[in-house]
Amino acid sequence: MKGNISIHTENIFPIIKKWLYSDKDIFIRELVSNACDAVNKHKKLVSLGEASESTEDYSVKVIINKKNNTLIFEDNGIGMTEEEVQKYINQVAFSGAEDFFNKYKDKMNEENDIIGHFGLGFYSSFMVSTKVQIDTLSFKENSKAVRWVSEGGLEYEITESDNRKQRGTTITLFLDEDSKEFLEEYTVRNILEKYCAFLPVNIYLEVIDEDKENKEDELNPINDTNPLWLKSPKDCTDEDYKEFYKKVFKSFDEPLFWIHLNVDYPFNLKGILYFPKLKNEFELIEGKVKLFNNQVFVADNIKEVIPEFLLLLKGVIDCPDLPLNVSRSFLQNDKDVSKISKHIIKKVGDKLKSLHKNEKENYEKFWDDIQVFIKFGCLKEESFYDRIKEDILFKTINDEYVTLSEYLEKNKEKHENKVFYVTNKEQQSQYIKLFKDYELDAIILDSSIDNHFISFIEYKNHEVKFNRIDSDLSDILKEDKEENKEANEVIENLFKDFVGERIKTYSVEGLKSKDTPAIILVSEHSRRMAEMKSQFAGMDFGMTFEEEKTLIINNNNDIIKKLVELKDNEEKKEKLSLICNQIVDIALLSNKELTSNELSEFIDRNNKLMNMIVSL
Ligand code: ADP
Repeated sequence: MKGNISIHTENIFPIIKKWLYSDKDIFIRELVSNACDAVNKHKKLVSLGEASESTEDYSVKVIINKKNNTLIFEDNGIGMTEEEVQKYINQVAFSGAEDFFNKYKDKMNEENDIIGHFGLGFYSSFMVSTKVQIDTLSFKENSKAVRWVSEGGLEYEITESDNRKQRGTTITLFLDEDSKEFLEEYTVRNILEKYCAFLPVNIYLEVIDEDKENKEDELNPINDTNPLWLKSPKDCTDEDYKEFYKKVFKSFDEPLFWIHLNVDYPFNLKGILYFPKLKNEFELIEGKVKLFNNQVFVADNIKEVIPEFLLLLKGVIDCPDLPLNVSRSFLQNDKDVSKISKHIIKKVGDKLKSLHKNEKENYEKFWDDIQVFIKFGCLKEESFYDRIKEDILFKTINDEYVTLSEYLEKNKEKHENKVFYVTNKEQQSQYIKLFKDYELDAIILDSSIDNHFISFIEYKNHEVKFNRIDSDLSDILKEDKEENKEANEVIENLFKDFVGERIKTYSVEGLKSKDTPAIILVSEHSRRMAEMKSQFAGMDFGMTFEEEKTLIINNNNDIIKKLVELKDNEEKKEKLSLICNQIVDIALLSNKELTSNELSEFIDRNNKLMNMIVSL
């Protein structure tokens, strides 16, 4: 019996064929998952008592026949009767593709808009074949095997088949000239490992090659039929999770921890998300979250389903409720998809909370590795921040971990609602020392994301102000005693005379440590503005942003005391100027690098000073 498959297909088929060309590998996924479905249907019927128990193990075989240029997909599932072939292959099968075409024909050129995978199902086989043949025998008693053949996918012929003695279906693809790569074992194996690694029925790859001795059946299936994410978390050991991670992500290092997602309601979602160990801040960007649909791999890193910041993690997510045949624009507008995404965020937040609460020590140990991820997540998703804000840790200069509220509470007597932070431990070591002298605490915020994160925290907590450790300290350092007022003015004027405009404000304090003659403070606001300016280098803001510097001169320091003694000695004036400027430069130098001009002046002056010592 012969016939036309569908009147409309003539228009659609060539377009779809061309369109899919860039990703033709997926026909393998489609045929293998159909085969698995057929097996699952049989299992189901057996369990319902509507089919008799299978006498052989269920399997799907993919057979490369180099001799005949064919690629064969063989299963022992339910098979089809002639009527079913008519119905499912000739009529129904194409309707999905037709619907899809009608829905998206306006978008046909926006290739990026399409995931590149949609359930063309069985007909995707024509992307690579001149002829496709189905031999199938239904599980139903007294069925006869039928053969369906079509060249090009537009017309078909159905005859009796002598090729199936046992229940199941064999689909034979006669590969076209451009698709000979699918006769290579390596190629086919790779595709199977990519898309079918976790399908629920054992899949075997066989090669028939007349030149070589027939390769005996590979004994090991390609796939793991019972992937870890489907198991109940209570049945999985740490070792199981680690092993799965290493296998799936071909990774040698161990994940820090993981979250097993297991949701039945209001939608179905299972998966495992791993927090990888961080080697450096930028490596995180290489995360990978694999999206599955009923154990069939769909694609990596679909940001419509998985919130962008979670793509920094590694993991698998299986979402049977998502249709495979979807375009990205569909996913973006789908309510369920945004629910899924929200739910994943919630789960990740809950896990972090419970780690913080129940395994504080571990949580602190992980913190350095996960902080960039968490901060990025907060910046991307405010709801995530709101959920975990009390679980964001800050490492202090004393190597302790505190939350923002803990820090504020602890320091509210000394500096209410002010957070002091260090951006570079080495460069700011002078100030850290100063802080320790004063029993003050500061937190370390030294990753590149912290600039944005600070602004974000300030925006979420209006009353809190972040100040770098070298800024706006004057209030804290101020001594209460006023008795030195006059003497202090003398010192201040001395420096003003010799140093001048380079410094905006001068102030004299008695610092706890005698060793340091002076330190520089830079106003937080002016520094942030200057940093912003340098970020937008080349743009004219119509004004200059200079860092506003304050020099704090330490009247407890012996050099300063000596300067005061000598201040009226006209002969020493030149020397005094040298020393004052040198003190300022050293203070600047311990704040940040000098400019090249400043540096050469500093060196000149230094040489003069050394000469003075030598000629003593
Ligand atoms: P879909 O899988 O999305 O339904 P397909 O075009 O892949 O669409 O397949 C159409 C139908 O053909 C299937 O729903 C199934 O009823 C039948 N079919 C396809 N492959 C097989 C198979 N290997 N064994 C039994 N039935 C099959």
